[in-house]
Amino acid sequence: MNNILMRWKGMAEQDSIKHEYQSQFTDVIKTWAMLRQNKADDQFTQFRNLIDAFRQWASQTQLDDLIALLDTITTVLPSSPSLMDNGLIGDVDTLLNKLIVASKQPSNPFLVKVQPSPEVLPARAVTRIAIIDDSELARISTKAMLDRFNFDVDVYDSVHKFRASEQAMANTELVLLDVVMPDITEEQLFDFAEELRQKNIKVILVSGSDSVNLRLKAVRAGIGGYVTKPFDINLLVSNIRWICNLDVTKPFHVMLLDNDQAFGDQLRSYATSMDIKITLFNSSESLINALDNGVPDLFLLEVDVPEISGIEVCKILRQQKRFDYVPIVFLSGDDRLETKVDALSAGADDLVIKHNPPDIIFRQMEKRIVRGQRIRSMAVKDSLTGLLNHGQMMDAASSALKLARRNNSSITVAMLDIDNFKNVNDTHGHMVGDNVIVGLAQLLKTSIRDTDVVGRYGGEEFIVVFHSEDLATIQGKLQEILQTFTQLRFNDGDHTFGCSFSCGLATATPNETVKDVINRADQVMYEVKREGKNAVKVA
Ligand code: GH3
Ligand code: MG
Ligand code: MG
Repeated sequence: MNNILMRWKGMAEQDSIKHEYQSQFTDVIKTWAMLRQNKADDQFTQFRNLIDAFRQWASQTQLDDLIALLDTITTVLPSSPSLMDNGLIGDVDTLLNKLIVASKQPSNPFLVKVQPSPEVLPARAVTRIAIIDDSELARISTKAMLDRFNFDVDVYDSVHKFRASEQAMANTELVLLDVVMPDITEEQLFDFAEELRQKNIKVILVSGSDSVNLRLKAVRAGIGGYVTKPFDINLLVSNIRWICNLDVTKPFHVMLLDNDQAFGDQLRSYATSMDIKITLFNSSESLINALDNGVPDLFLLEVDVPEISGIEVCKILRQQKRFDYVPIVFLSGDDRLETKVDALSAGADDLVIKHNPPDIIFRQMEKRIVRGQRIRSMAVKDSLTGLLNHGQMMDAASSALKLARRNNSSITVAMLDIDNFKNVNDTHGHMVGDNVIVGLAQLLKTSIRDTDVVGRYGGEEFIVVFHSEDLATIQGKLQEILQTFTQLRFNDGDHTFGCSFSCGLATATPNETVKDVINRADQVMYEVKREGKNAVKVA
């Protein structure tokens, strides 16, 4: 980055250049911030045009690094916004972050003061949680645990105090609600839960015992989660992730087949307010031709279309492995049993009646999509931890390196291995050992940015790939993670205990392959082991 600044310095005096740079820069960042959120067609076109314009302008200057950066963005952008997956968004974020960093440094002659803060780009969305519990110990210890997983946690010792706080009622996403509260009867408690539900605040009920009776009451009050004290932290975190849909990727992309344009338009206009993007195909053939463009979150097929029927399209989709986890839902004008049987035997997951109100259709679709995404992520990811598995990690690392190279930058690999893990298994049992692995996985997942990649390399070994060569910052980050990890308390029923890990870091040099750099990180990790473990070391 510094070399960009140095070369830009020479041009600082020319006010017109400075002004032009600032205005183009701002437009690009603002448009990208909207586009990565909405994936709208018009924003996509606008973004491409802005990049082209910025590129043309830059070619009249000597801003070589800027030109290279803009060229890279042009190369990685797909042909349509519907193909912008998380990987691509992360790539463009990384590229634009470089520009932001350069543009916002006080030493930059083009210093941009306008507010396209880097926060509009990757920073992880924080989930705001309120703990309502009359036990001070419970409040303090639960908050301490959740803080470590980077949730934003407030505590209240009574329902009354939570209710009285306008700010709490307005900002909280999830409430961990103790069932036994002195200021309130059980009935009032469930009324309160209902009130939260209407405000769209999710609830996890916390109880001292596992009672079917209480579970049933919770279900009837629309309460999403139920956990028992004392907490298993992993269970609690995965419950929170589940209930708050933290592992769901939005917007949802739906491919709709229907020759009834008016109906398609109606659904589409309804969908825009719901973070669902519908691409309408008027014929089976056009849908089939578009299949190479990517994998949607759901197919919504009208049964009754001319030439190639909806049922036949469904069968074609079900022949293809890459759509295995994509739900297929049929739209039908009638609810004859025969239609339903045909649809389900062709491999569909559901059938919705077309003349139902759109909100009913969308609710059905949303449920299918969320379940589909979950099943897909369980199937393709490491089953214990939900992280990328070894093979996927290697693929992700190679693409990260390729992208970094195009951008004259590099990646940094962290290799982590839990210390004395055999001991943990031997002393506390394999299941408890598994729990430690899940704990580290969740900690890593919540501690690194969405654009960096974390995977389970093997048994108790993890890899993190950072889109950055800033070794000092990365080392600091991992030291923080290590410190948190050593403070986590795991429980085998009788005893609690803690663990540590050893970590080696290496940044890829220009001639290294992904395997080379991983090997180097691995060697450094083993040096740490030899030197006494529980540390982070740089190659
Ligand atoms: P070191 O500090 O040198 O890393 O010592 P260590 O005991 O951790 O040694 P090593 O890394 O060789 O041992 C890893 C052990 O982890 C061996 C294996 O039984 C156990 N393990 C691997 N995968 C799993 C798993 O999924 N669950 C559990 N519970 N244990 C596992
Ligand atoms: Mg090991
Ligand atoms: Mg080990």
